[in-house]
Amino acid sequence: TPPKEGKMFIRALFDYDPNEDKAIPCKEAGLSFKKGDILQIMSQDDATWWQAKHEGDANPRAGLIPSKHFQERRLALRRPEILVQPLKVSNRKSFGFRRSFRLSRKDKKTNKSMYECRKSDQYDTADVPTYEEVTPYRRQTHEKYRLVVLVGPIGVGLNELKRKLLISDTHHYGVTVPHTTRARRSQESDGVEYIFTSKHLFETDVQNNKFIEYGEYKNNYYGTSVDSVRSVLAKNKVCLLDVQPHTVKHLRTLEFKPFVIFIKPPSIERLRETRKNAKIISSRDDQGAAKPFTEEDFQEMIQSAQIMESQYGHLFDKIIVNDDLTVAFNELKTTFDRLETDTHWVPVSWLH
Ligand code: 5GP
Repeated sequence: TPPKEGKMFIRALFDYDPNEDKAIPCKEAGLSFKKGDILQIMSQDDATWWQAKHEGDANPRAGLIPSKHFQERRLALRRPEILVQPLKVSNRKSFGFRRSFRLSRKDKKTNKSMYECRKSDQYDTADVPTYEEVTPYRRQTHEKYRLVVLVGPIGVGLNELKRKLLISDTHHYGVTVPHTTRARRSQESDGVEYIFTSKHLFETDVQNNKFIEYGEYKNNYYGTSVDSVRSVLAKNKVCLLDVQPHTVKHLRTLEFKPFVIFIKPPSIERLRETRKNAKIISSRDDQGAAKPFTEEDFQEMIQSAQIMESQYGHLFDKIIVNDDLTVAFNELKTTFDRLETDTHWVPVSWLH
């Protein structure tokens, strides 16, 4: 049974400005909102225009917003194909993500590095996001902790923030143990640095969608399994996971209730100032090969962040700008403290 009028809440997954909407019967009656806003639906009597207001807004007057069905239909019509730029990724793959890119014709002409990805995973992630029905949720003390997913461009400082958080309370935070097919080194133990496995088993596990992400490095597979997240949560710890943003949608389940934090770079001017003497490890492949940041690294970081935000911004629960590391860390810490005590809006499907 659908919720009663005024009892339904949705998260807007796109920005909306009625003044720019040619279809709205009356611009003044429209309600503008931003991606991520929580709206209370006051009426769905009309199939095309719903009446809604911002959650918590004392003003009783509702405004018009496009209905889900209408918005989906017109967005789908408007875009025959999607052109996206590839995110600069490390050797990580998931569910065939990188294989599906190919150069589009348009780019050969303009010589811009635009990629077409009609049949890829990224196509349906970007698939007409409109609204998502949400409900308030607060973690009960007996419940497992939520999975926290950290996303952000290479070089933004995500690993440093994660490391600081881990050492701030090793009993409370945990990270996953990755799988690898390479041989165990003498000082390593199975299940500590890695879970050592065979190529055959690894490939079977990939087929069976057991991995959140995986990659190949020097002829060996490495990857993070869904079960490795489960075992951190089973120890009654908050599981910290950093993955490419396109993997997030596979993790958005009732079991994990992921809270997604986007670590965003500051302006290019601030990057130049704050990262002057810092070094970048350009991907997980170049272990130990840290080099000073170049102007190009800054530009790539900002561009990559923009692409992430425009394509996956509707999945971010929190955005933290990593300008000054200490300030960003404190904000992160506060976010984690609140995560366990505050009420959050989560998809209704997570509560059944
Ligand atoms: P090593 O064999 O020296 O322990 O690790 C070599 C490389 O394995 C790392 O630099 C990184 O590229 C890759 N690696 C380690 N863990 C993971 C993982 O969970 N996923 C992926 N995709 N690669 C990993």
